[in-house]
Amino acid sequence: MTLWFLNGIKKGIKTEKNPDESMFKPDYPSVLEGKSSYDCPTGAISNGTWIKEKCIFCGRCDLRPTGNQNIYNIHGKMPEIFKRSFYLYPIDSGTCGACNAELKSIFSPQYDANRFNIFEAETPRHADALVIMGVYTNGMEKIIEEAYNAMPDPKIVIAMGACTLSGGIIGSGINKKFNVEIAGCPPTPYSIISAILRYRGD
Ligand code: SF4
Ligand code: SF4
Repeated sequence: MTLWFLNGIKKGIKTEKNPDESMFKPDYPSVLEGKSSYDCPTGAISNGTWIKEKCIFCGRCDLRPTGNQNIYNIHGKMPEIFKRSFYLYPIDSGTCGACNAELKSIFSPQYDANRFNIFEAETPRHADALVIMGVYTNGMEKIIEEAYNAMPDPKIVIAMGACTLSGGIIGSGINKKFNVEIAGCPPTPYSIISAILRYRGD
């Protein structure tokens, strides 16, 4: 314990910086280079345009970052009551595990989502937002509905990852509009935190 403490003092602060736009400009791809035809496994390229919700970032194509778009969609504004504390309840509807790991890591000392008043709820009864990840298997439909119904009002839904948004490589996704939609496979911790902060209006 003492060694750990001394190491902490010696190495200094390791928490990542605040993901504000001046420091972390979006660098997601949106421009195709080259003239070859792209054999995109998820149909994420249509008429030369990149559809972020479908992309699994396999790297097979010639997409290049432009910095002119975000990796998430925001619909509406966060209810005022969530601004002091915002509790997320993750629900796995058929993931590969990577979305879960990235979401979990936002609460690690490295990303420290707690400093933005973002917390993880242990039960949907204490949650403000349901975070759905995975391909939305039939067996999970009722469970997701029950979790949503158990949450107190007001409540919102965050859809995370290509699987949830479009089905990714194997599924068909949930054909609905969510309060916050975070594309990526998996979305990075910065993308997740940044999307929530933008939704909050920070
Ligand atoms: S990186 Fe995305 S857009 Fe490119 S081929 Fe893979 S899935 Fe399709
Ligand atoms: S979006 Fe990608 S990382 Fe997330 S569960 Fe699906 S395959 Fe895994």
